[in-house]
Amino acid sequence: MEKTQQLYEGKAKRVFATKEPDYVSVSYKDDATAFDGKKKGSIAGKGAVNNKMSNFFMQALERNGIPTHFVQQLNDRESLVKKVGIIPLEVIVRNIAAGHFSSRYGVEEGLVFDEPIVEFSYKNDELHDPLLNDDHAVALKIATREEIAQIRSSALQINTILKEMLLAVGVTLVDFKLEFGRLPGGEILLADEISPDTCRFWDTATGKKLDKDRFRRDLGGAEDAYLEMERRLLGDHGSAAEE
Ligand code: 5GP
Repeated sequence: MEKTQQLYEGKAKRVFATKEPDYVSVSYKDDATAFDGKKKGSIAGKGAVNNKMSNFFMQALERNGIPTHFVQQLNDRESLVKKVGIIPLEVIVRNIAAGHFSSRYGVEEGLVFDEPIVEFSYKNDELHDPLLNDDHAVALKIATREEIAQIRSSALQINTILKEMLLAVGVTLVDFKLEFGRLPGGEILLADEISPDTCRFWDTATGKKLDKDRFRRDLGGAEDAYLEMERRLLGDHGSAAEE
Protein backbone atom coordinates (compact mmCIF):
# COMPACT_ATOMS: atom_id res chain seq x y z
CA MET A 1 0.00 0.00 0.00
CA GLU A 2 1.37 3.40 -1.03
CA LYS A 3 2.59 5.63 1.77
CA THR A 4 1.64 9.31 1.79
CA GLN A 5 2.85 11.98 4.23
CA GLN A 6 5.17 11.30 7.17
CA LEU A 7 3.26 11.43 10.45
CA TYR A 8 6.08 10.94 12.91
CA GLU A 9 9.80 10.31 13.12
CA GLY A 10 11.14 8.51 16.15
CA LYS A 11 14.65 7.40 17.07
CA ALA A 12 14.44 4.09 15.22
CA LYS A 13 11.37 4.33 12.97
CA ARG A 14 9.38 6.64 10.72
CA VAL A 15 5.61 6.37 10.47
CA PHE A 16 3.74 7.32 7.29
CA ALA A 17 0.06 7.70 6.53
CA THR A 18 -1.38 5.53 3.74
CA LYS A 19 -4.43 5.93 1.52
CA GLU A 20 -6.26 3.66 3.99
CA PRO A 21 -7.03 5.74 7.13
CA ASP A 22 -6.96 2.73 9.48
CA TYR A 23 -3.42 1.69 8.47
CA VAL A 24 0.02 3.31 8.69
CA SER A 25 3.32 2.29 7.16
CA VAL A 26 6.31 1.91 9.50
CA SER A 27 9.83 2.28 8.13
CA TYR A 28 12.70 0.95 10.27
CA LYS A 29 15.97 2.92 10.35
CA ASP A 30 19.55 1.80 10.99
CA ASP A 31 19.98 4.71 13.45
CA ALA A 32 20.76 3.61 16.99
CA THR A 33 20.53 5.71 20.14
CA ALA A 34 21.02 4.94 23.82
CA PHE A 35 20.96 6.67 27.20
CA ASP A 36 18.05 9.03 26.41
CA GLY A 37 19.49 9.80 22.97
CA LYS A 38 22.85 10.98 24.39
CA LYS A 39 24.69 8.21 22.54
CA LYS A 40 24.03 8.20 18.79
CA GLY A 41 25.25 5.93 16.04
CA SER A 42 24.03 3.39 13.57
CA ILE A 43 24.03 -0.36 13.15
CA ALA A 44 24.23 -1.31 9.46
CA GLY A 45 21.32 -3.52 8.43
CA LYS A 46 19.49 -3.10 11.77
CA GLY A 47 16.31 -1.67 10.23
CA ALA A 48 15.77 -4.70 8.02
CA VAL A 49 16.54 -7.19 10.81
CA ASN A 50 14.18 -5.46 13.26
CA ASN A 51 11.38 -5.21 10.72
CA LYS A 52 11.53 -8.88 9.74
CA MET A 53 12.10 -10.17 13.27
CA SER A 54 9.33 -8.08 14.78
CA ASN A 55 6.91 -9.29 12.11
CA PHE A 56 7.96 -12.88 12.71
CA PHE A 57 7.28 -12.56 16.47
CA MET A 58 4.00 -10.66 15.99
CA GLN A 59 2.68 -13.33 13.60
CA ALA A 60 3.58 -16.06 16.11
CA LEU A 61 1.85 -14.11 18.90
CA GLU A 62 -1.29 -13.67 16.73
CA ARG A 63 -1.37 -17.45 16.19
CA ASN A 64 -1.29 -17.78 19.98
CA GLY A 65 -4.27 -15.45 20.45
CA ILE A 66 -2.45 -12.16 21.19
CA PRO A 67 -3.88 -9.31 19.07
CA THR A 68 -1.15 -7.18 17.46
CA HIS A 69 -0.97 -4.22 15.09
CA PHE A 70 0.80 -6.24 12.37
CA VAL A 71 -0.92 -6.36 8.96
CA GLN A 72 1.66 -7.05 6.24
CA GLN A 73 5.37 -6.80 5.49
CA LEU A 74 5.83 -4.42 2.54
CA ASN A 75 9.56 -4.85 1.98
CA ASP A 76 12.74 -5.52 4.00
CA ARG A 77 12.40 -2.30 5.99
CA GLU A 78 8.72 -1.40 5.85
CA SER A 79 5.51 -2.87 7.19
CA LEU A 80 1.87 -2.01 7.19
CA VAL A 81 0.34 -1.88 10.67
CA LYS A 82 -3.00 -0.92 12.17
CA LYS A 83 -3.13 2.70 13.27
CA VAL A 84 -3.41 2.86 17.06
CA GLY A 85 -3.13 5.49 19.75
CA ILE A 86 -0.01 4.43 21.63
CA ILE A 87 -0.58 4.05 25.37
CA PRO A 88 2.36 5.95 26.94
CA LEU A 89 3.58 2.99 28.99
CA GLU A 90 6.80 1.07 28.53
CA VAL A 91 5.87 -2.40 29.69
CA ILE A 92 9.03 -4.24 30.69
CA VAL A 93 9.19 -7.94 31.50
CA ARG A 94 12.28 -9.29 33.23
CA ASN A 95 13.31 -12.94 33.66
CA ILE A 96 16.93 -12.31 34.67
CA ALA A 97 18.52 -9.28 36.36
CA ALA A 98 20.29 -6.93 33.91
CA GLY A 99 20.43 -3.29 32.86
CA HIS A 100 18.48 -0.84 34.98
CA PHE A 101 17.23 -3.55 37.35
CA SER A 102 20.82 -4.39 38.26
CA SER A 103 21.93 -0.76 38.59
CA ARG A 104 18.77 0.41 40.42
CA TYR A 105 18.67 -2.36 43.01
CA GLY A 106 22.39 -3.24 43.24
CA VAL A 107 21.94 -6.78 41.92
CA GLU A 108 24.55 -8.51 39.79
CA GLU A 109 23.56 -9.21 36.19
CA GLY A 110 22.49 -12.81 35.69
CA LEU A 111 20.37 -13.41 38.81
CA VAL A 112 17.47 -15.60 37.60
CA PHE A 113 14.12 -14.56 39.09
CA ASP A 114 11.74 -17.20 40.48
CA GLU A 115 8.89 -15.46 38.64
CA PRO A 116 8.96 -12.91 35.82
CA ILE A 117 8.74 -9.26 36.85
CA VAL A 118 6.39 -6.87 35.01
CA GLU A 119 7.42 -3.23 35.34
CA PHE A 120 5.88 -0.05 33.92
CA SER A 121 7.56 3.20 32.95
CA TYR A 122 5.85 6.39 31.83
CA LYS A 123 6.89 6.82 28.18
CA ASN A 124 8.03 10.43 28.31
CA ASP A 125 11.48 11.44 27.04
CA GLU A 126 11.49 14.81 28.86
CA LEU A 127 10.94 13.05 32.20
CA HIS A 128 13.36 10.22 31.27
CA ASP A 129 10.66 7.51 31.33
CA PRO A 130 10.11 7.37 35.13
CA LEU A 131 9.02 4.10 36.72
CA LEU A 132 5.36 4.03 37.73
CA ASN A 133 2.94 1.62 39.36
CA ASP A 134 -0.73 0.82 38.62
CA ASP A 135 -2.01 3.57 40.93
CA HIS A 136 0.18 6.18 39.23
CA ALA A 137 -0.98 5.07 35.78
CA VAL A 138 -4.65 5.25 36.84
CA ALA A 139 -4.16 8.66 38.52
CA LEU A 140 -2.44 10.01 35.39
CA LYS A 141 -5.32 8.58 33.29
CA ILE A 142 -2.85 6.66 31.15
CA ALA A 143 -5.06 3.56 31.39
CA THR A 144 -7.89 2.18 33.49
CA ARG A 145 -7.25 -0.44 36.14
CA GLU A 146 -8.92 -3.06 33.93
CA GLU A 147 -6.72 -2.10 30.97
CA ILE A 148 -3.59 -2.33 33.13
CA ALA A 149 -4.62 -5.79 34.32
CA GLN A 150 -5.17 -6.84 30.69
CA ILE A 151 -1.80 -5.41 29.59
CA ARG A 152 -0.02 -7.16 32.45
CA SER A 153 -1.61 -10.51 31.69
CA SER A 154 -0.86 -10.12 27.98
CA ALA A 155 2.80 -9.20 28.72
CA LEU A 156 3.22 -12.38 30.79
CA GLN A 157 1.64 -14.52 28.06
CA ILE A 158 3.94 -12.90 25.48
CA ASN A 159 6.92 -13.68 27.74
CA THR A 160 5.98 -17.38 27.86
CA ILE A 161 5.60 -17.59 24.07
CA LEU A 162 8.79 -15.67 23.23
CA LYS A 163 10.88 -17.52 25.83
CA GLU A 164 9.94 -20.85 24.26
CA MET A 165 10.58 -19.68 20.67
CA LEU A 166 13.99 -18.33 21.66
CA LEU A 167 14.99 -21.33 23.76
CA ALA A 168 14.45 -23.48 20.64
CA VAL A 169 17.21 -21.50 18.87
CA GLY A 170 19.62 -21.46 21.82
CA VAL A 171 18.79 -17.97 23.06
CA THR A 172 17.79 -16.93 26.60
CA LEU A 173 15.25 -14.11 26.83
CA VAL A 174 16.60 -11.92 29.65
CA ASP A 175 14.14 -9.00 29.43
CA PHE A 176 12.18 -6.93 26.93
CA LYS A 177 10.02 -3.84 26.47
CA LEU A 178 6.54 -3.79 24.94
CA GLU A 179 4.22 -0.98 23.93
CA PHE A 180 0.48 -1.33 23.47
CA GLY A 181 -1.98 0.83 21.55
CA ARG A 182 -5.73 1.38 21.33
CA LEU A 183 -7.90 1.10 18.23
CA PRO A 184 -10.58 3.82 17.90
CA GLY A 185 -13.11 1.40 19.48
CA GLY A 186 -10.88 0.94 22.54
CA GLU A 187 -9.51 -2.54 21.76
CA ILE A 188 -5.94 -2.90 23.02
CA LEU A 189 -3.31 -4.32 20.63
CA LEU A 190 0.38 -5.06 20.95
CA ALA A 191 2.19 -2.35 18.93
CA ASP A 192 5.73 -1.01 18.39
CA GLU A 193 8.36 -3.74 17.81
CA ILE A 194 9.99 -6.82 19.29
CA SER A 195 13.63 -6.91 18.19
CA PRO A 196 17.23 -6.86 19.46
CA ASP A 197 16.64 -3.11 20.05
CA THR A 198 13.91 -3.84 22.60
CA CYS A 199 14.98 -7.18 24.10
CA ARG A 200 18.04 -8.62 25.81
CA PHE A 201 19.04 -11.89 24.16
CA TRP A 202 21.86 -14.00 25.59
CA ASP A 203 23.29 -17.04 23.84
CA THR A 204 22.21 -19.86 26.13
CA ALA A 205 25.45 -21.84 25.77
CA THR A 206 28.02 -19.03 26.00
CA GLY A 207 26.16 -16.08 27.55
CA LYS A 208 27.20 -13.89 24.59
CA LYS A 209 25.00 -10.80 24.24
CA LEU A 210 23.10 -10.79 20.94
CA ASP A 211 21.25 -7.47 21.25
CA LYS A 212 21.55 -3.69 21.47
CA ASP A 213 23.72 -3.90 24.62
CA ARG A 214 26.61 -4.48 22.16
CA PHE A 215 26.01 -0.90 20.95
CA ARG A 216 25.08 0.60 24.36
CA ARG A 217 28.21 -0.81 26.03
CA ASP A 218 30.62 -0.50 23.07
CA LEU A 219 31.17 -4.26 22.99
CA GLY A 220 31.63 -4.33 19.19
CA GLY A 221 29.99 -6.76 16.79
CA ALA A 222 26.47 -5.27 16.97
CA GLU A 223 25.82 -5.80 13.23
CA ASP A 224 26.88 -9.45 13.49
CA ALA A 225 24.76 -10.00 16.61
CA TYR A 226 21.61 -8.69 14.88
CA LEU A 227 22.30 -10.85 11.81
CA GLU A 228 22.99 -13.86 14.01
CA MET A 229 19.58 -13.42 15.70
CA GLU A 230 17.92 -13.10 12.29
CA ARG A 231 19.67 -16.22 11.02
CA ARG A 232 18.68 -18.27 14.07
CA LEU A 233 15.03 -17.25 14.01
CA LEU A 234 14.31 -16.76 10.32
CA GLY A 235 17.00 -18.79 8.56
CA ASP A 236 19.44 -17.33 6.06
CA HIS A 237 16.88 -15.45 3.99
CA GLY A 238 14.76 -13.74 6.64
CA SER A 239 11.54 -15.18 5.23
CA ALA A 240 8.91 -13.77 7.62
CA ALA A 241 7.00 -12.18 4.73
CA GLU A 242 6.35 -15.57 3.14
CA GLU A 243 4.44 -17.00 6.11
P1 5GP B 1 16.38 -1.54 31.17
O1 5GP B 1 15.24 -0.97 31.97
O2 5GP B 1 17.16 -2.56 31.91
O3 5GP B 1 17.22 -0.47 30.52
O4 5GP B 1 15.69 -2.29 29.91
C1 5GP B 1 14.92 -3.45 30.08
C2 5GP B 1 14.56 -4.01 28.70
O5 5GP B 1 13.65 -3.13 28.05
C3 5GP B 1 15.75 -4.15 27.76
O6 5GP B 1 15.55 -5.32 26.97
C4 5GP B 1 15.70 -2.93 26.87
O7 5GP B 1 16.16 -3.21 25.57
C5 5GP B 1 14.21 -2.59 26.87
N1 5GP B 1 13.99 -1.13 26.94
C6 5GP B 1 13.72 -0.37 28.03
N2 5GP B 1 13.55 0.92 27.71
C7 5GP B 1 13.73 0.99 26.38
C8 5GP B 1 13.69 2.08 25.45
O8 5GP B 1 13.43 3.25 25.78
N3 5GP B 1 13.94 1.76 24.15
C9 5GP B 1 14.21 0.49 23.75
N4 5GP B 1 14.47 0.24 22.45
N5 5GP B 1 14.23 -0.55 24.59
C10 5GP B 1 14.00 -0.31 25.90
